[in-house]
Amino acid sequence: MRRKTKLIHGGILGDEHTGAVSVPIYQVSTYKQEKIGVHKGYEYSRTGNPTRFALEELIKDLEEGVRGFAFGSGMAAIHAVFSLFSHGDHVLLTDDVYGGTYRITSKVLNRAGIESTFVDTTNLEAVEKEIRPETKALFVETPTNPLLKVTDLKAASEFAKRHGLLLIVDNTFSTPYWQTPLTLGADIVVHSATKYIGGHSDVVAGLAVVNSEKLADELHFIQNATGAILGPQDSWLLIRGIKTLGLRMEAVEKNARAISAFLTDHPAVKKVYYPGLPSHPQHELAARQAGGFGGMISFDAGSAAKAEEVLSKVNYFSLAESLGAVESLISVPARMTHASIPAERRAELGITDGLIRISVGIEDQEDLIEDLKSALE
Ligand SMILES: *Cc1c(COP(=O)(O)O)cnc(C)c1O
Repeated sequence: MRRKTKLIHGGILGDEHTGAVSVPIYQVSTYKQEKIGVHKGYEYSRTGNPTRFALEELIKDLEEGVRGFAFGSGMAAIHAVFSLFSHGDHVLLTDDVYGGTYRITSKVLNRAGIESTFVDTTNLEAVEKEIRPETKALFVETPTNPLLKVTDLKAASEFAKRHGLLLIVDNTFSTPYWQTPLTLGADIVVHSATKYIGGHSDVVAGLAVVNSEKLADELHFIQNATGAILGPQDSWLLIRGIKTLGLRMEAVEKNARAISAFLTDHPAVKKVYYPGLPSHPQHELAARQAGGFGGMISFDAGSAAKAEEVLSKVNYFSLAESLGAVESLISVPARMTHASIPAERRAELGITDGLIRISVGIEDQEDLIEDLKSALE
């Protein structure tokens, strides 16, 4: 099955009982048992729900894994995956990882004795220096947020195997339409499905896919034990969103390429970060490991004041956190998504006060470019 076909025909198709072509929303908490312990595969909806299962089968197929899991948010998915570790374990993470991932590891999981170190995963020699006897995993986000740094997943997976680490990849920015980390050797993929997978700014959700039965059993145990599951309505919305994931990602790609070129040529723009630009330091790697470069672009407007001015002038870019939806969004990471990262660390990473991040939507390219052009004047 090819990529676009799989978005429609992957997972579980419709409903066998009625012929409905859309998976029904099983709005139910419990299931009648014939005898004690004799049932049709479902006992209680925290443990399993048919609509959620249809979504979990679909994301499993898209990521080419062994089993999929749906959670109430991307952070809940990441929390569940980190719950595979125990007191005393240590995890290495990409240094400009999503702000919420930085927060949960450095302010929540540390209290349970799970330690983390943030390191530039584009440089595996630097990563190697941080390995300890108790290191259990390497958590990579690629491309990153907001600087769009790209980590070589094949090299990272060979590195992880050599050191006996699990490789966990946050695939939110690329989606399985462009990038399938498990096929490059990763062990676990996580998603904020709130972003491209849902795609319409109407649902908060998280997904995880694992590459072995052992990890599947462990993660299902944690999903059921901790209970941060996705409800049937939201599961259905994600299945619906996934049907057009390919069309949306292609449309976003076209717009993002044109906008990144426009920004590169604009005299008021100091620097543009987009993996699709030949000037991006990992452009060739990005082209090799993913089918597309995605719709996230960051650019430096020079100062906090200039950034604020641009944000106040745009019409088609909504000032909002989040990303990956049909509508274009604009934000200043230093003051919004990355405000939970201390200022000192932001400066180290290069997240300047003038840095603007845009999530390119599927509007007409000409309107988006004209909008940015007049805002930058
Ligand atoms: C948004 C985001 C998350 C967190 O997901 P939520 O659905 O907001 O909980 C994790 N990783 C990345 C890369 C994200 O963009």
